Amino acid sequence: MAKPTTNTFPWSGSQPWDVDVLVVGGGPAGLAALTRLRWLKTMNPIPLSVVLVNSGPLGGLAKLGNSILTGPSLAFPAGELVARLKKDLATYPAPIITQTVVSVAKKESLFITTLADGTTISSISVIMACGMLDLRNIHSFWQKGVTATFGNRANIGAILKKELSASKKPLILGGVHLLQLREMILEINPGATLLIDGKTQQSNENTIWGTLDHIDRNAKEMRVNIQTEKGVVSLETDRIVIEFNSLELKRPALPQGLVARANGYLQEQNHQGLYIAGDCGGPPFSAVVALGEGTKAGLSAYRYAHEFKYGSPAPLFAYYGDDSVGADTTDDYQLQDEDIPVHLLDHWPPGADPALWPQLDGRTAIGKLKKTHKNIYAQITALLEQRAITLCPRRDHT
Ligand SMILES: Cc1cc2nc3c(=O)[nH]c(=O)nc-3n(C[C@H](O)[C@H](O)[C@H](O)COP(=O)(O)OP(=O)(O)OC[C@H]3O[C@@H](n4cnc5c(N)ncnc54)[C@H](O)[C@@H]3O)c2cc1C
Repeated sequence: MAKPTTNTFPWSGSQPWDVDVLVVGGGPAGLAALTRLRWLKTMNPIPLSVVLVNSGPLGGLAKLGNSILTGPSLAFPAGELVARLKKDLATYPAPIITQTVVSVAKKESLFITTLADGTTISSISVIMACGMLDLRNIHSFWQKGVTATFGNRANIGAILKKELSASKKPLILGGVHLLQLREMILEINPGATLLIDGKTQQSNENTIWGTLDHIDRNAKEMRVNIQTEKGVVSLETDRIVIEFNSLELKRPALPQGLVARANGYLQEQNHQGLYIAGDCGGPPFSAVVALGEGTKAGLSAYRYAHEFKYGSPAPLFAYYGDDSVGADTTDDYQLQDEDIPVHLLDHWPPGADPALWPQLDGRTAIGKLKKTHKNIYAQITALLEQRAITLCPRRDHT
């Protein structure tokens, strides 16, 4: 599948939205949601269209360290959990846009998500899975110039000493609570700079308020570009230390349009169709929680968008009981003509036969339908363009 960019996405079409579900963040939560939206079950509910917008590496923070899930017997060494999640994504691909989401707003019944380059994408549903930090390309330097404060917080002095002593001009990245460690840090290393992720205050000596934009490396050092209130500041450093404790206490600013709690993490929103999964919803910060919440958000968004799009409840046994079982006289539920959404009928593709739509249910082979429907491929193309149906490409079918 060609890599989408903001130039090629949103796809053109006359549907009033660009994509059924948009996922923000590609860590364990976002990847779990994405997979659940592409792979629901072998019982063939119709897959919806979905796009992932992710500013960091696929896998998010789980790319950096081990992922011990419930305990030592259910643990993945660094990167392995991500490799498994990516394997499913390779089989059930979805477009991925590498960008930062700057705002999410609900306009009437649709969500409008704005990306850093100004592109907007409209969708029926949005899943927020943007973790505790906009990671950008930090992972490329992990353990190669970028490290973190690990260990018992009672020993934070010793931990900082270990991380900062050998460095000439370290940059310590954290949330606003990092200021509590300012004196201790400067005592250990007077050449240190604190980067407080946020734009609310003026920068001063040894302390910059801003958002890490990008890291580059020359032979000896790293050059860090930081977005501040007054524009981009460029800084050279030989070591970046992430202070996770301060980030856990207060999350840096989220995309605009969303409601945050006092600790900066997302609180349940009033908007129907908006789901929150993983670290961005607050503690406990854990990969297994993120996977669980991502799965739940994926299925919830599926149900919401299915009902919105087709006007009928999603058949999702064995995740949700199906109360239509037995109420129907036929043994096997088929999509009905009357399930066609009204707006879709208004924009029905020329040349496409409405009787074909309910038969494209994932159970009936195209080869069989070909016998009774002329120009079936042209009709399918037209329906795809209208996003009435969604193609779920599979490796074994290509
Ligand atoms: C070193 C280390 C070891 C860990 N060990 C464990 C462990 O053993 N067991 C465990 O359960 N957990 C562990 N964790 C925690 C676990 O990795 C996280 O809880 C988990 O990754 C959270 O998943 P997430 O999808 O919610 O967010 P993340 O993994 O943080 O992913 C969020 C993604 O969203 C992107 N993003 C952020 N803002 C935006 C935006 N505005 N627009 C677009 N994209 C955005 C980020 O760049 C990132 O790619 C560890 C973490 C670290 C750092």
